[in-house]
Amino acid sequence: MTTQPIPTNDPNPNVRFLEEVSARTAGVSRLEMCIQCGTCGGSCPPAEDMDHTPRMLFALIRAGMREQALASNTPWICVSCYHCVVRCPQEVHIADVMYTLKSMAIQAKLYKDSTAPDFSQTFVDMVETYGRSYEFGLATRHYLKHFPMRLPSMAPMGLGMLTKKRMDITPKRIEGMDQLNAILERAKTLEVV
Ligand code: SF4
Ligand code: SF4
Repeated sequence: MTTQPIPTNDPNPNVRFLEEVSARTAGVSRLEMCIQCGTCGGSCPPAEDMDHTPRMLFALIRAGMREQALASNTPWICVSCYHCVVRCPQEVHIADVMYTLKSMAIQAKLYKDSTAPDFSQTFVDMVETYGRSYEFGLATRHYLKHFPMRLPSMAPMGLGMLTKKRMDITPKRIEGMDQLNAILERAKTLEVV
């Protein structure tokens, strides 16, 4: 997939950017349904480390502020815990939109934080090892490597997610890893940057 630049004479660039993000999101994003209630930001465990809460990020998208939205560290900090998704009154597919924004930021070369690629590589490593995301290991490894002083402040949030069974303390490998690895290898041969 290639990035479609917004024409300078576009009569409605704000809507175009929102539509572009929505169209690039797998399934239905429902991004246009956001009512800016802020429930997502209030539910988001790592919101403190984000440049923008999900609500603020969606406001930037709605305003057509393409560079600001794609340069935000927010999608890279998102750990796909889906807290916000289950609480959003409008059923916006927030975590899926975060994946879209990461892809668009890479293509546009707009996100420059040195920890972001490392975070994504750790995520990929875990998917290739276990066949799924392993949030506890992902967050622990990332914070130990880049933000060790912040780890103690993360403990209450992590404990809450563990006790509410929103996160596993040990990784669980899926069945059929051979098939998944074959799919991933095939995907790499088709990858378009
Ligand atoms: S919780 Fe849903 S509707 Fe509310 S600001 Fe977040 S995305 Fe928008
Ligand atoms: S899925 Fe991402 S944006 Fe939503 S609460 Fe979890 S970390 Fe925050």
